[in-house]
Amino acid sequence: MTDRYDVIIVGSGAGGGTLAHTLAPSGKKILLLERGDFLPRELENWDSTAVFAGGRYVSPDTWYDEHGNEFQPQVHYFVGGATKMYGAALYRLRPTDFDEIKFSDGISPAWPLAYSDLEPYYTRAEWLYQVHGNHGEDPTEGPASKQYPWPPVSHEPRIQQLSDDLAASGYHPFHAPCGILLNEDHRAASACIRCAWVDGMPCLVHAKCDAEVIAVRPLLGLPNVTLLVGAEVTALRTDSSGNTVTDVVVSRAGQHETYSADVVVLAAGAANTAKILLRSASDKHANGLANGSDQVGRNYMFHNSKAVSALSKEPNETVFQKTLGLNDFYLADGSRPPLGNIQMLGKSSPGAMRGEEPKLTKLVPNWSLEEVARHSVDLWLTTEDLPKPDNRVTLDGAGNIHLAYQFSNAAETHGLYRELKTILNKTGLAAHDVLSKNYYLHLSVPLAAVAHQAGTARFGSDPATSVADVNCKAHEVDNLYFADASIFPSIGAVNPALTVMANAIRVGDHVAERLR
Ligand SMILES: Cc1cc2nc3c(=O)[nH]c(=O)nc-3n(C[C@H](O)[C@H](O)[C@H](O)COP(=O)(O)OP(=O)(O)OC[C@H]3O[C@@H](n4cnc5c(N)ncnc54)[C@H](O)[C@@H]3O)c2cc1C
Repeated sequence: MTDRYDVIIVGSGAGGGTLAHTLAPSGKKILLLERGDFLPRELENWDSTAVFAGGRYVSPDTWYDEHGNEFQPQVHYFVGGATKMYGAALYRLRPTDFDEIKFSDGISPAWPLAYSDLEPYYTRAEWLYQVHGNHGEDPTEGPASKQYPWPPVSHEPRIQQLSDDLAASGYHPFHAPCGILLNEDHRAASACIRCAWVDGMPCLVHAKCDAEVIAVRPLLGLPNVTLLVGAEVTALRTDSSGNTVTDVVVSRAGQHETYSADVVVLAAGAANTAKILLRSASDKHANGLANGSDQVGRNYMFHNSKAVSALSKEPNETVFQKTLGLNDFYLADGSRPPLGNIQMLGKSSPGAMRGEEPKLTKLVPNWSLEEVARHSVDLWLTTEDLPKPDNRVTLDGAGNIHLAYQFSNAAETHGLYRELKTILNKTGLAAHDVLSKNYYLHLSVPLAAVAHQAGTARFGSDPATSVADVNCKAHEVDNLYFADASIFPSIGAVNPALTVMANAIRVGDHVAERLR
């Protein structure tokens, strides 16, 4: 079966979904290929034990580390991609993130564009994804051409107290940007009383501004947009010159199908975008499609992150905890490199604790975990990791993903944790190491936490060191683009989704102009 389209987009997550939404008004014939299905709306969406301990929505993929040990990556193949599970903390990168930055373990390279180039697209992404926040509160943020569409989500009393304590101690807490659909008083709890708004859980009532709800669903039924679910792209084929993608090869319901388009855009997430390119090797692209530079799959990043539960004597009855951020240690200060971002996590629950720390919690009774969760204030620390060439996705003969990764910037990660402990002492909260849940950093299979995966097909001006050009078009292929986190040359230390969305809008404008 061969069908022809103007644009084929592979993947319907933050990048692909947003790109489809940007291109749809052009009237061009768009095919959105998504390997997953719609995430079922069921009571288990809100059951942390089913989601975390039961791994209800995690893909059954098996990947391998650099020693050949298998692990189950925390990837979620659904319409909306990783955003179905994300915490919707929608941060912009800081302007300095677009420049070269020196860290203890090396250089974080500059982007081929400046913050000011992406700024208009950040604004459009914030308005599309209905972000609540207050530009101007965080002293490290860049200029914004427009305020957020909605005022910040109010802190609940315990978080307001933390914010006041931080300010009294000389820090600069701010209202975190949240992508959430609320009613008029801007209180999350009133919008969704059942939802504890935990990172890693889908929202049954579709109040979370994810790529399915915001970008893809509004396109369903449009005559020029076709969404195929259960459609895994396995390879791209080119013409004999190797310059043009002619066929997108899809495995769907056990059948192989091919589709064609004037423009093909990969947005399958960093690891799977690399996988598709590597599986598309041919005579003209012996090393994998668009991989004359040997950069495809390399420079994988996923952040040095750490979750910390701090216990306070008084109970923390907060429902929607993710309303506060702190960037006092984000920028270099002359005596040290940038340390990173501190923000709130979704509220702890026994199910989440068991899912993230199965060994530690195995013998702990549920009532005890409930008590811990009731008193905990949960924080999330993020430090930038570096795009090292040997941190890379490769494939074995069967096409399975192998992920080699060595952590970088441990000094900065520890520095940020030290600063947090000082903060916790100043604000009457003690960090309890025994309860510290290191989702990403110290799990026995840390590679499995691929939530913030980025790199693998970075964009840049030099074809020798990058896969795509500044428009995110493959240097070596005339009609192949990228719109996901694979293009990141560096990852900064804030959550990546808004940058993926903003860049997808930018790529969408470019592709629409090209097709005009
Ligand atoms: C638990 C969790 C919490 C997070 N919290 C935040 C947060 O609060 N803030 C934030 O900014 N970011 C957060 N993130 C990260 C954010 O979701 C990702 O950075 C973002 O979604 C990446 O966008 P993407 O387009 O690169 O990939 P994705 O959004 O994952 O989209 C990739 C899509 O491609 C599909 N696909 C894969 N392979 C194929 C194939 N071969 N054929 C067809 N389709 C394919 C996938 O099913 C998926 O739908 C979180 C992620 C997780 C998992």
